Amino acid sequence: MKRVAIVGGGVAGVTAAYELAQQARKGVPLQGVLFEASTRLGGIIETVHEGEFVIECGPDAWVTEKPWARELAEELGLADEVMPSNDATRKTYVLIDKKLQAMPDGMRMMVPADLDALDQSELFSAEAKRAYREEPGRAEELRAAAPEGDESVAEFVQRHFGDEVLEKIGAPLLSGVFGGDVTKLSVQAVMAPFVTMEREHGSLIDALRTRSVAASKNSVFTTLRSGMGTLVDRMIAAIPEDWIRLSAEVQFTSCGEEGWLVGTARGVERFDALMMTAPVDVACSLLQPIDAEMAPLMEMDASSAVVVGFGFPDAAKFSIPTGFGFLVPPGSDSLLLAATFVDQKFEHRVPQGGRLMRAFFGGKAAERLMRCGNDETAAVARMELARVLGPLPEPQVTVVRRWPRSLPLYAVGHLERMKKLDSRVRAFKGLWLLGNGYRGVGVPDLVRDARAAAREIAGE
Ligand SMILES: Cc1cc2nc3c(=O)[nH]c(=O)nc-3n(C[C@H](O)[C@H](O)[C@H](O)COP(=O)(O)OP(=O)(O)OC[C@H]3O[C@@H](n4cnc5c(N)ncnc54)[C@H](O)[C@@H]3O)c2cc1C
Repeated sequence: MKRVAIVGGGVAGVTAAYELAQQARKGVPLQGVLFEASTRLGGIIETVHEGEFVIECGPDAWVTEKPWARELAEELGLADEVMPSNDATRKTYVLIDKKLQAMPDGMRMMVPADLDALDQSELFSAEAKRAYREEPGRAEELRAAAPEGDESVAEFVQRHFGDEVLEKIGAPLLSGVFGGDVTKLSVQAVMAPFVTMEREHGSLIDALRTRSVAASKNSVFTTLRSGMGTLVDRMIAAIPEDWIRLSAEVQFTSCGEEGWLVGTARGVERFDALMMTAPVDVACSLLQPIDAEMAPLMEMDASSAVVVGFGFPDAAKFSIPTGFGFLVPPGSDSLLLAATFVDQKFEHRVPQGGRLMRAFFGGKAAERLMRCGNDETAAVARMELARVLGPLPEPQVTVVRRWPRSLPLYAVGHLERMKKLDSRVRAFKGLWLLGNGYRGVGVPDLVRDARAAAREIAGE
């Protein structure tokens, strides 16, 4: 019987345990033990149900283009729950000079698929619009200027479209997903398809025009009707109960002739394989004694996130613009990083006639709010939303969540560092590094990698 330790019960760890359990059910002689430091599984995935409000405390959806979370949901019997975002009313705003300016239609991140839609937009100055219009004509120059190796997102976006596009949409779009600073963020790690487009076409606008329109017919985001937490709950239901250890913080790991040793306050156990899915900071300190060269490859900056959800019974009491929400560029005097108009982005999130807003803080504001109580954090969130949207009525439901160092920053050179890290990891039999510090932060990526690793352990 092969014994596998899984350290960390976020979506990566739960998926790994679920896939191992599936393999065991098929007759592979396997036993998993999932160690989770806290009292609940799911990590950053958490859905709170309050009355008919469905409030996501972490991820609220996955990117539709990536199939792995949907495949898992279908396999778990959740096909009827899979639900697209309301893309008929999709609009995202950017807070500029205290006003919400709509992003032009047809943008793919910061690249417009429709140059005519730009003309109607009040978001960009005439100079930025000119930079967009001129980009296709600079295809050869841009292709020639593309560096061999990695560079920052800031350098890449500036080269194509200039500073204004970077500041107004490039930075806010990316800093809510990957911790912080676009001047440090690796373009190869976080915008790989655009790097390929530059290599092939020079112009990103031209490259988008040649892509099939079929892909754009799908909604951009997909979620589950009862919330992302259901994905985790269904997997937990399929994992043998005696595999799961809650309040079981792993304090050390070691590796020797006899396999892997994993220690918690309750004792030490021996395993044949170790799936390390704890956050990268924790993984780094647990693996440091095993391989001093591995740890520096795992050191990375990360940003914290604070999320505040407000449920209101009566949407008629305050109006908001049509759309999914707004982004706040760095340097704005608002403390917010973004806000989501949840009941407009998704169906089935509020009672009839209700409204659900979500405020999202990152960077320095999140660090400061990390030290505040729930009431104070909620008051700040309400005030910051009101500064943008006008006075907010008293919420019926308020949910506050803090996610310390939850948004890892994939710095320039990340992919090279990951290659070196992979080769160090391969030197240790039965070691797997999974989770959001390595090969993607999105739920689909984490699901794909955790399942692939578990299948490899099972020898499929
Ligand atoms: C606010 C926010 C919004 C997001 N929105 C989206 C979105 O809409 N779509 C999307 O695809 N992605 C989104 N993401 C990213 C995605 O949610 C995360 O990357 C993902 O959930 C991380 O999963 P994980 O398993 O790697 O880590 P985590 O969820 O961090 O889980 C790690 C687990 O390890 C446990 N642990 C820590 N130390 C130990 C120890 N010593 N021993 C045992 N256990 C330990 C922790 O308690 C935790 O449960 C968002 C992230 C944040 C922060």
